[in-house]
Amino acid sequence: MPDIKSEIEKRRTFAIISHPDAGKTTLTEKFLLYGGAINLAGSVKGKKTAKHAVSDWMEIEKERGISVTSSVLQFNYGGYCINILDTPGHEDFSEDTYRTLMAADSAVMVIDASKGVEKQTIKLFKVCVMRHIPIFTFINKMDREANDPFELLDEIESVLGISTCPVNWPIGCGKEFKGVYDRNEREVSLFKAAMNGQKEVDTKNMSIDDAALKDEIGQAFFDKLNEDVELLDGASAEFDIEKVQAGDLTPVFFGSALTNFGVETFLQHFLKMTTPPLPRNSSEGIIDPVKEDFSAFVFKIQANMNKAHRDRIAFMRICSGKFTAGMESFHVQGGKKIRLSQPQQMMAQERHIVEEAYAGDIIGVFDPGIFSIGDTICNSNKKFAFEGIPTFAPEHFARVRQIDTMKRKQFIKGISQIAQEGAIQIFQEFNTGMEEIIVGVVGVLQFEVLEYRLKNEYNVDIKLEPLPYEHIRWIENPEEINMSRIVGTSDMKKIKDLKDNPLLLFVNSWSVNMVLERNEGLKLSEFGKNN
Ligand code: GDP
Repeated sequence: MPDIKSEIEKRRTFAIISHPDAGKTTLTEKFLLYGGAINLAGSVKGKKTAKHAVSDWMEIEKERGISVTSSVLQFNYGGYCINILDTPGHEDFSEDTYRTLMAADSAVMVIDASKGVEKQTIKLFKVCVMRHIPIFTFINKMDREANDPFELLDEIESVLGISTCPVNWPIGCGKEFKGVYDRNEREVSLFKAAMNGQKEVDTKNMSIDDAALKDEIGQAFFDKLNEDVELLDGASAEFDIEKVQAGDLTPVFFGSALTNFGVETFLQHFLKMTTPPLPRNSSEGIIDPVKEDFSAFVFKIQANMNKAHRDRIAFMRICSGKFTAGMESFHVQGGKKIRLSQPQQMMAQERHIVEEAYAGDIIGVFDPGIFSIGDTICNSNKKFAFEGIPTFAPEHFARVRQIDTMKRKQFIKGISQIAQEGAIQIFQEFNTGMEEIIVGVVGVLQFEVLEYRLKNEYNVDIKLEPLPYEHIRWIENPEEINMSRIVGTSDMKKIKDLKDNPLLLFVNSWSVNMVLERNEGLKLSEFGKNN
């Protein structure tokens, strides 16, 4: 069916990763602007409120209700159908942020030119590397004072361990930002800021061999550019699309999202270099997005805060074929035929019911409480399960105690359900049972969410006692290791998850290496296996 094939092949599904304030929202807005999905930038989301109390945050979640707002935006540009996955940062940073990357086929990494590689970028980058997806770098805010571009590339290479290949090169920065040089076209785009960054800019391009360029940018910048170009041609990695697509080489672009400079060229290059929906591994081998019938996996579950109906929305990434509303499909982990109800999608800013969707798209469906993160939904004729989504390392831990011990049942039910949605992870002391529960979260706000939800939805009051651990490691080879024989450090603690997998907690990161040294044969991992 050529129709399905061409729909799938024009899809590009990617996540934008960055540290808060690097310009992710601004860049997303500009993409939408070029896609004609919004008229004026500056209207994507009003999420930029400063820190709010947790109750406000809850109200926001409630308003969002079953919203898809913060999860995915779809728009069309240049014959492509683009899905941008949001990776929430700031106080919203949670395990969901990591899981969203499991649904993407590539990532755009936005770096603030004056700050370089920052903490949250490193964390998100690690997940992209684990998946070997292509990563494209946009070095933003060149209209401000910036670090030396060579140093920025060095930093990306040394901190993130990926080779870089600049596609364009900046000439000056801040007040002296003259533009960027396209190494392929051998052309300079002269910098001109758009009015408040809200309109598309007319760009003026000049060949590097054009005698007038020297007058345009000045002798000093002209000389510096020629020097840089020579250095780059000699020193930087050669562009190799295979390496890009394997995630070993990142094409680098310089620009300024706020002033629209370099955004459209970035988008055009990026769309050409990145891939349509990728095949995925399953229990029945590789699933080809075009050849197979409908299949999808759940990567995020959002609880509806409405107490009256404790329903949820499950977000799924379609991996193959075509989805049609009301179609019958098969929920593999539940072992049941189902009809996905109320499927919805986000087009620019509006949520709407989808009639059909294709591999590469994300849909949110009504979940009566049957789905877990990582579940597969496929056509009932051919059943398979996609590889599970790993469990990502929490960084904050607390011991949880219920205040009224009579409510044991509700407490266990509530905390287990919240864990099933993937908002928190629960652990136990290695040698004791469920009396002592340790909760781990990726973003510290999740503790408050847990407390609030247990009280509001399950009528259970809890007390959280923070623990000093910050590093968690799963034991990769538990069958070869005798847990009671592990030689630890004074800051190490042995725990297990609900499936009895052993784990280690550490206060200090250097203890991890020490324990590895002290215990020959021990293998530790930052990601936990699921399913
Ligand atoms: P996010 O937290 O990564 O989504 O960052 P935002 O897109 O909200 O940007 C953070 C701040 O940086 C905002 O005040 C933006 O206006 C500003 N900003 C974003 N891109 C640029 C840029 O290219 N140049 C300048 N000067 N400021 C920018």
